[in-house]
Amino acid sequence: MRYYSETVERAIHELAKLPGIGRKTAQRHVFYLLKTSAAEVDSLSQALLDLKRKVGYCSICYNITEQDPCPICRSEQRDRSTICVVEEANDVLAFEKIGEYKGLYHVLGGALSPLDGIGPDDLKIRELLARLQNDVREVIIATNPSTEGEATLFYLTKLIKPLQIKLSRIAQGIPMGADIEHADEVTLSRALDGRLPL
Ligand code: ZN
Repeated sequence: MRYYSETVERAIHELAKLPGIGRKTAQRHVFYLLKTSAAEVDSLSQALLDLKRKVGYCSICYNITEQDPCPICRSEQRDRSTICVVEEANDVLAFEKIGEYKGLYHVLGGALSPLDGIGPDDLKIRELLARLQNDVREVIIATNPSTEGEATLFYLTKLIKPLQIKLSRIAQGIPMGADIEHADEVTLSRALDGRLPL
């Protein structure tokens, strides 16, 4: 069903583009917003505008950040000789929540997936290799236990192995097909402690 208001239609159309939101849910949100105070809708619009204006990617690790380099890359407290390689910025958040890991990160921006047309050049792999030139002693690969994550792990192993850098993968325990982002803290902490040499 379509509405006579072009403005309402447009809002539904835009919201329905978000992942997990179909037209029906978008409609519900739009009607909720129509009933909400103007101040609240303004505040939501401003938050969305700021998201694109203020948040970007760290030019070192490619984590999302409001300052470049990001607070982790800038911190004096972090061990700069260790880099944990993850697929997405959400994974950094998962590791930071346990608070045990003191090294730096590198966010690839996804995983290798030839079927989806995602090759090595679509990920921050070249940027990772460039970072390894600077006194990095250990790389921990923490890609997701999925077909794509494993393919990425093997690809990175092939590239990093000849560089004489200690290389490990986080231990299994994160079930195959699950996301690091959704792993509980104990599982993730054990996976990091029990990392296996590659
Ligand atoms: Zn950074």
